[in-house]
Amino acid sequence: MIKVFIDPGHGGKDRANRGPTGYIEADGVLDISLLLEKELLSTGAFQVGLSRRTDITLGLSERGRAAAEFGAQLFISEHTNAAGMVPNTTVRGTTVYESVDLKDEALGAQMSKSIAAALGIPDRGCHQRESVNYPGEDYYTVIDTAQDAGVPHVLLIESAFHDNADDEALLKSEAGLLKIARAQAAVICGFFGVKYPANKGMTVAEAIDIWAAAGVILDPDGMKKDFETGVFRPDRYSAFLIKSASFITNNKA
Ligand SMILES: [Zn+2]
Repeated sequence: MIKVFIDPGHGGKDRANRGPTGYIEADGVLDISLLLEKELLSTGAFQVGLSRRTDITLGLSERGRAAAEFGAQLFISEHTNAAGMVPNTTVRGTTVYESVDLKDEALGAQMSKSIAAALGIPDRGCHQRESVNYPGEDYYTVIDTAQDAGVPHVLLIESAFHDNADDEALLKSEAGLLKIARAQAAVICGFFGVKYPANKGMTVAEAIDIWAAAGVILDPDGMKKDFETGVFRPDRYSAFLIKSASFITNNKA
């Protein structure tokens, strides 16, 4: 089993980050995390841990250490972004951070691209953010702690800007949250070489909906052939999943 540890950011005493019409980051990222867990478990290939399943207060280091204690092969800290300058910013889009000490740029770039494509918002890409006070360390304590404790792949995901009204509307809709979770699941499955979605009994229409929601680029002929054989393999047609094949090989432990 592949071990993935998901950290829904904030929660408990930390519920201050909100959108202009009532979205609360602590709750939104918990919903995304629980949906992502469900998608990953549906494949039968993952063991999933969460830092929290309810609205509780957790320290940043505590979250990263929990991922290492779980034996995570991949740690994801889930967030939504804020430009913070005005109540309703014009900034939109998806941003992903990798650790300054790891080489997750291809994975992070694909994650950002797929979430942005699924939501129809700008892809702001994968970045590193170095601590000002501690050069060579991550600015984000949660990913710094996880990688220091030995987790080999670490991402902090800012799926959209909750202080932009249009992005907030996506974050306030169940459909929007499911798109985010499925986009993330498709990229994680691609990274580890796991087939997604796992359900062989679905119709072409259902599979297209899931893949489109996950930002997967479809080849209609390949789809039809797979439907006839009853084996769905989005990794065969998706540009990003094919591209990820090299690091799938590199990361098979
Ligand atoms: Zn956050």
